[in-house]
Amino acid sequence: MSSKPFVENKIFCSDCNSHLLNYIVYKDTGTIYKLSADCPFCGGSSFVIEVNGKFQFGPVGADESGKPTIVDQVSNVEGESNRLHFSVKKR
Ligand SMILES: [Zn+2]
Repeated sequence: MSSKPFVENKIFCSDCNSHLLNYIVYKDTGTIYKLSADCPFCGGSSFVIEVNGKFQFGPVGADESGKPTIVDQVSNVEGESNRLHFSVKKR
């Protein structure tokens, strides 16, 4: 078992560059997850990012962005393992 310091990361829209989600990788498991998110501001989406290990995600707070978000839904992408897609809404 290995541990590593918390790394706080942000997911941005690939189209309009809005800040969509935050996540923290808290445990290195050797498993790669692929994440993407919808953008509620322009109708686009983020790039697919790869996360190595266990993670927690959260919305963007009003204190850190003029465009706060909430996470509406998390779904598995059919046919792909360890692949999650986040539906994000405007707060
Ligand atoms: Zn966007």
